Amino acid sequence: MTHISKLRQLVKGTLLENEPMSKHTSYGIGGPALAYIIPKDRDDLAKILRFAKKNEIPVHFVGSGSNLLVNDQGIDGLVITPAKALRILTFKGNCIEAESGVMLGKIVKESIKRNLSGLESLIGVPGTLGGALMMNAGAFGDEISNYLKSIDIMKLTGRIYTLSPENLDFGYRYSSLNPDEFILLARFELPKTSSEIIQGKRIKASQGRKKSQPLRFRSSGSIFKNPGANLAAGYLIDQAGLKGACIGDAEISTKHSNFFVNHGSAKATDIAKLIFLARKTVYEKYGVMLELEVKTIGFCQSELDPYAA
Ligand SMILES: Cc1cc2nc3c(=O)[nH]c(=O)nc-3n(C[C@H](O)[C@H](O)[C@H](O)COP(=O)(O)OP(=O)(O)OC[C@H]3O[C@@H](n4cnc5c(N)ncnc54)[C@H](O)[C@@H]3O)c2cc1C
Repeated sequence: MTHISKLRQLVKGTLLENEPMSKHTSYGIGGPALAYIIPKDRDDLAKILRFAKKNEIPVHFVGSGSNLLVNDQGIDGLVITPAKALRILTFKGNCIEAESGVMLGKIVKESIKRNLSGLESLIGVPGTLGGALMMNAGAFGDEISNYLKSIDIMKLTGRIYTLSPENLDFGYRYSSLNPDEFILLARFELPKTSSEIIQGKRIKASQGRKKSQPLRFRSSGSIFKNPGANLAAGYLIDQAGLKGACIGDAEISTKHSNFFVNHGSAKATDIAKLIFLARKTVYEKYGVMLELEVKTIGFCQSELDPYAA
């Protein structure tokens, strides 16, 4: 009996064998995962994690894949997601408790309805709460970690721990959350503010996004982190003459040079080649090595980094 058939007997939720990751990334790109699993609940998740650990099967935690580039060869391991399963969201006064599979957009909208402030500028950021916490998603001055009270995570042993922000480090598109730990839920406490202030920030963020981002095409948002507070990666790529550069069906967007878009049938290798090209050209012209914001699975360093040792 293979590991996957044993797992199939164990899993109460959904297990999809050889599932193309192109169905689960905003890019619409990515080869098959050994199994794509949506655990039914925490007990189910604990069993799956212990099985994977015991049998030394690699696991990858994924939200809605909106910041993810998966190789065309796929993933020789389990992909486990809370999306469509862990989706309980509760509000008590100023306090929010949300499971990691809740879409960030839903939390933002429900907070706005209650005049709770602090997340409104994140309107329009795709993805789940789990992905937002791992990435410390942010936009127009707000970051998901700003009003965080605590996070529950599950380790590969199946044990659950509660972490407080004092035990964690958050920065620009960075969190010290461990990639081996599954984010289960988070608690926030947001201040009440007037609806005019909240709506003003929401509208500004929404309009800013529509104006500057190529939202008609599939992408993963920004490919690179901005190298400085006053230095945008998109500006450097643009100045390096790469706006509109194409490889296969992948393009460095003409609307926002830090968005690499899929015009339909782009492969992961096409995006990877654009990443390589942008890094090499920007480094040669400006001496700045761009750091990836997008998370990648299944690439060797030399495919993405022209200066890999
Ligand atoms: C059009 C567009 C616009 C965007 N605009 C912004 C923006 O303004 N600001 C911004 O910050 N981002 C932006 N992004 C990027 C993306 O939306 C965010 O990074 C988002 O928070 C990712 O959430 P996700 O659920 O899709 O995570 P995924 O892409 O699935 O995963 C991202 C990372 O989180 C980890 N992860 C996900 N869920 C869990 C979990 N439950 N437990 C442990 N680890 C987990 C994954 O392993 C991976 O490392 C944009 C993307 C797109 C496509």
